[in-house]
Amino acid sequence: MRLLVTGGAGFIGSHYVRTLLGGGFGEERDPHTRVTVLDLLTYAGNRAGLPARHPRMDFVRGDVCDLPLLLALLPGHDAVLHFAAESHVDRSIAPDTAPEFVRTNVLGTQTLLDACLRTGVARVVHVSTDEVYGSIGRGAWTEDQPVAPRSPYAASKAAADLFALACHHTHGLDVTVTRGCNTYGPYQHPEKLVPCFVTRLLQGRELPLYGDGGNVREWLHVDDHCRAVHRVLHHGRAGEIYHVGGGTPRTNRALTGELLRLCGADWSSVRRVPDRKGHDRRYALDATKIRTELGHAPHTAFDRGLADTVAWYRDHTDWWKEAAYR
Ligand code: NAD
Repeated sequence: MRLLVTGGAGFIGSHYVRTLLGGGFGEERDPHTRVTVLDLLTYAGNRAGLPARHPRMDFVRGDVCDLPLLLALLPGHDAVLHFAAESHVDRSIAPDTAPEFVRTNVLGTQTLLDACLRTGVARVVHVSTDEVYGSIGRGAWTEDQPVAPRSPYAASKAAADLFALACHHTHGLDVTVTRGCNTYGPYQHPEKLVPCFVTRLLQGRELPLYGDGGNVREWLHVDDHCRAVHRVLHHGRAGEIYHVGGGTPRTNRALTGELLRLCGADWSSVRRVPDRKGHDRRYALDATKIRTELGHAPHTAFDRGLADTVAWYRDHTDWWKEAAYR
């Protein structure tokens, strides 16, 4: 199999590529899979998360909005895993960086789908997020819930999802959408909550906690997210959406408490800051479909995953300092 992975130098995409090349998914056909990573290396992309060289990996620095590049690159590939995106909600709210969300997430996805159609790529997995649904007071969303995004990031991802599903409906392209919850693990850019707090604690700095800290997110280890995407790639049905849940909801306050404990700090390190504009209160995914249909469930216990993640940032100071300040 020949696979093109967009955004493969980012947090989740690079974990996917490392795991695949290392034989970590255990699929019989994986030892023969060749990967082309296509990544623009924005501030969020980092070549250091991928092998410098690998006999089954090619790295191309390029833009998912670049149709001529995609038309040149895609022939011969059997499938595309589409991770590339602008992914940080705060940047989607800031006027300077907001337009890039429409360009990469919406136009980039549409361009990629178009290029797949033109070059005969057989299969696309579009990686998306629980944030497309908005906020939920109680219960959990199932895959038939209509999207109702409330942040510019979520709006751009919801638009991309709709283009992906419409491409299946209109053109018959074999596209599947995954919607994952908040993901944590090694190699995540220090702008995101878990690495932001851990790296600040490692430097003896204060933690800026939004609002009352009562916002609830479901947490998923990056390895479980990637195993789910891999399962969907090989076994998911065309035109379907699959939730990738973590089953471990935490308020931001509770998560902060766990990070403080793991880093040997206390609540005097926490400073309450004004809430993010339009901050969604609670996300919750019903992940029954991927479990019953594809036999996927997360493996990594949250306590162990979080402790391992803190240890990784403690041991990789050079990586996160370089990522944060370039
Ligand atoms: P990330 O920001 O760490 O990585 C994104 C990657 O895309 C970077 O390597 C960046 O250089 C690349 N990129 C950006 N614009 C590009 C462009 N125009 N052309 C080519 N490459 C470009 O993001 P992530 O956390 O790894 O998320 C990957 C995907 O998973 C995204 O689609 C995101 O919406 C989705 N997702 C993330 C989470 C999470 O908690 N991190 C949860 C659910 C879904």
